[in-house]
Amino acid sequence: MPFNAETLIAQRALAVDASGIRKVFDLAANLKDPVNFSIGQPDFDVPERLKEKAIEAIHAGKNRYTPTQGIAELIDPLLKKTLADTAWPAEDTCLLILSGTSAGLVLAMMATLNPGDEVLFLDPYFVMYHHLPKLCGAVPVAVDTYPDFRLHPERLEAAITPRTKLLILCSPNNPTGITLTQAELDAAAAIAKKHNLLVISDEIYDAFCYQPHLSIAKSLPGQCLMLKGYSKTYGMTGWRLGYVAGPKAIIDQMTKLQQYTFVCDPSMVQYAALETVLTHHIDMTPFVRAYQKKRDLVVNGLKDSFEINAPGGAFYIFPKVPGNGKITATTFAQQAIANNLLIIPGNVFSSRDTHFRISYATTDDKLAQGIDILRKLAREI
Ligand code: PLP
Repeated sequence: MPFNAETLIAQRALAVDASGIRKVFDLAANLKDPVNFSIGQPDFDVPERLKEKAIEAIHAGKNRYTPTQGIAELIDPLLKKTLADTAWPAEDTCLLILSGTSAGLVLAMMATLNPGDEVLFLDPYFVMYHHLPKLCGAVPVAVDTYPDFRLHPERLEAAITPRTKLLILCSPNNPTGITLTQAELDAAAAIAKKHNLLVISDEIYDAFCYQPHLSIAKSLPGQCLMLKGYSKTYGMTGWRLGYVAGPKAIIDQMTKLQQYTFVCDPSMVQYAALETVLTHHIDMTPFVRAYQKKRDLVVNGLKDSFEINAPGGAFYIFPKVPGNGKITATTFAQQAIANNLLIIPGNVFSSRDTHFRISYATTDDKLAQGIDILRKLAREI
């Protein structure tokens, strides 16, 4: 029999689909100057000081492997800040520097999941939460939050079985922009304690919070992995930097697994990031304020034509397709693309296909154009 590469593909790879977001990007490639509401990254560039520091680090020869867990100069202040923010016990808390928050999700699941274990998260969800458990032979369990996208404790508890091991929370949320209240976080923490669940708190959008950011981490010493990311905060999605803090027993295993996977975070990125924790803090608040204005612009522009749960953070809005189910979100997104507007249909992030994701990380001009197109499409349904 001739060699056939396709026959070699593992079940693990076959079990996951290509990202639906990438499919929209492929369609975008054929459009001329589209209004692009599909991009999950800030439209501002990395601050100049960080760029200079990365270049300096390269010229200074910081181009070799770093320790697996990251450079001590970066870990120490981040750990200090984590302990101050969470009041976790110093003797049981460790921190690992990651090649992006994504690496933290991969390593956390590799370190904790056995085949058949179940992973809870809220639907709509960030796509990795759905796919990564499957790569570990585990079972993703999405807990419905429609129509308000709030955390409903009774639904969460009803989804728990003896195999449930992890609960992933993300606030501010991708794709809804919803931020969880203290009462919701307290309810989730009580459920995690009652059922001995490890909570992964994905806080990658913590800088894009239009009121003080609340974290579940504080309520769960020894029972939470707190994931932080630099990608969105500093517009450096391509640089790959994040970190995870949590109980020593789990961080030690994640560090061991990092040795055989990501090896270490890019050295020059770690050295540049020192600039964010040392003497001269880099202030990103002007960008965050600008994004808050963009959110208001889009919510105000669409609220008469679409059902919207006003988001409290990140840079996403997740409106409902009008027409009471007359058309799916996939059809609506196709109509938008035919009008030179890129949005992501809800079924990329959900078991439902009734809503669509807007990223408002773009210029005010493009936002105004996109709002006009969406209002026109809503009128035509
Ligand atoms: N978590 C959430 C909720 C995200 O939206 C993203 C990226 O879009 C990530 C994690 C991964 O980000 P990164 O690996 O760039 O830190």
